[in-house]
Amino acid sequence: MANYMLMSKLYAPTLKETPNDADIESHKLLTRGAFLRKTSSGIYTFLPLGQMVLHRIEKIIREVMNASGAQEILMPALQPAEVWKESGRWDDYGPELMRLVDRHDHMYCLGPTHEEIVTALIKNELNSYKQLPCNLYQIQTKFRDEIRPRFGLLRGREFIMKDAYSFHSSQESLQETYDEMSKAYAIFCNRCGLNWRAVEADSGQIGGKVTTEFMALANSGEAELVHCDCGYAANVEAADCICEAKSYDVDHMEKVYTPGVHTIAELAEFLHIEENQTCKALSGKSENGDVFVLFVPGDHEVNEIKAARVVPGFEILTDEEMEELGLPKGSMGPVNLPEGVKVIADNSLKSIDRWVVGANEDNYHFVGAKQGVDFEVYDWADLCVTKPGDKCPNCGKTLIGDRGIEVSQVFQLGTKYSEAMKAFYLDEDGKQQPFIMGCYGIGVTRTLAAIVEQHYDENGIKWPISVAPAHICVLAIGKEDYVLEAASKIAEDCAWAGFDVVLDDRAERPGVKFADADLIGWPLQIIVGKKGLEKGEIEFKVRANNRRGTIPAGSISEKLADANIALRNIKNGADDIFSSF
Ligand code: ATP
Ligand code: MG
Repeated sequence: MANYMLMSKLYAPTLKETPNDADIESHKLLTRGAFLRKTSSGIYTFLPLGQMVLHRIEKIIREVMNASGAQEILMPALQPAEVWKESGRWDDYGPELMRLVDRHDHMYCLGPTHEEIVTALIKNELNSYKQLPCNLYQIQTKFRDEIRPRFGLLRGREFIMKDAYSFHSSQESLQETYDEMSKAYAIFCNRCGLNWRAVEADSGQIGGKVTTEFMALANSGEAELVHCDCGYAANVEAADCICEAKSYDVDHMEKVYTPGVHTIAELAEFLHIEENQTCKALSGKSENGDVFVLFVPGDHEVNEIKAARVVPGFEILTDEEMEELGLPKGSMGPVNLPEGVKVIADNSLKSIDRWVVGANEDNYHFVGAKQGVDFEVYDWADLCVTKPGDKCPNCGKTLIGDRGIEVSQVFQLGTKYSEAMKAFYLDEDGKQQPFIMGCYGIGVTRTLAAIVEQHYDENGIKWPISVAPAHICVLAIGKEDYVLEAASKIAEDCAWAGFDVVLDDRAERPGVKFADADLIGWPLQIIVGKKGLEKGEIEFKVRANNRRGTIPAGSISEKLADANIALRNIKNGADDIFSSF
């Protein structure tokens, strides 16, 4: 018999009002539906319903991970500073790392990720190439002191992650596990009922070069993506940018008075030109203090991740630094820059004969500035954040835009951590080699919210069958004892047929029960009322598409049996298993 719950006993205080501080649909509905309560900024408590959904997501994770040969462990959330100092990230990680001191003045952090701990764990114990590859995973609470915790579970300061770490003796072996994990993640996303896309990504703090993000497509997502019919897809941060800049055709440079012009849009309008005929400038410094001004076409933004590839340790100059150097805040341009300040320009500007740029003087621009004549370019690079409308780096067609929620990411780390932390194995010739590593993360709590972002309507959540807190809710509508008896008999039938079921046996008005059932989002509602019982009929509502109907009371076992077969054969967690109703 599957799970059988009584609504009257369930701690599920649903709310009519939307909480004031909920800024996104999943946060509103999960709070109203009694899945979640906010404890503090970016910190949440999961109520029984929320915990049920989490367990289902975690069960799917364990199944796909175990099937791929990974083994589950559990590492500590509280991590000694020493291992972070060994890897170099105690200093590099920055203010997101939650640091603390114990009574003996020893430094610790609350783990935002576990590369250090897992590397320290296997070091000296995983010794031989014969023991490789090895892939270890855990489902654990992570802590990141996010600068802006927001969007409920999507960006918390305490959240649950599944993280896996693999160890290899060759790049080929790493590639194999990486591909295996990518496949497992695709299955995971499908089983959670997500509409998703895998995209090329940037590796950020974690390190390594080869990395893919799995994005749940949603307008509420913070990530901007581009994709193309040819199959190419990338996070705009990571996509190579092929964009078009245009020349301003005049035969010599001229200084133009541009009063009150502050933005690119205003400049383009003032000069009656297109935005990509102008240039946008951003000043920054390298880790050893050299100062650069970066130029991109006016209709694009500078990508700071790409900037850091040409200017090591790239940091945008503060207003004070700019003033000290004699750089203007607006109207910055490559002509007559202060001594020592170098120009780096986007590749798209290379073939542009005459540029429109700031004159390093308030209210003035130069039009028709010529590179090599009026100013020098120190270096060229891809510096832009890619946009929809740019060209596909793979096939040259026009890129299409999307937004997504990053639910998971896989990385090839290489030897970054094993070398820093001296984690070696002995190869076939008995020689010491650093482990080649991969790591693979799924945001468990973020996935839960992402599922809601894709499955709701104005009345509440529509859980995919695979992760719903229960499959079926039987609503007893009417005060009479025989109604409750009939309803509870049907609920028992559902449980015996293999469905997790909840019986709404509360002494509440029908309107309250219907509203709660829609809000909580049980995939199937079976409505048992006086009138129906008299006619020998049972009403139902499939929440995914709000399809309602009635079936003969006698046909329920047969319908449940069909639904059970459908449940066992689902390809996508959001498949409708109740189509036989
Ligand atoms: P983001 O770019 O959104 O900050 P990230 O790339 O830093 O995320 P990873 O280090 O790749 O995150 O962590 C693995 C997974 O953990 C992410 O794909 C995401 O699902 C989840 N995650 C990361 N940060 C948070 C957070 N603040 N709240 C909830 N989940 C998170
Ligand atoms: Mg990530």
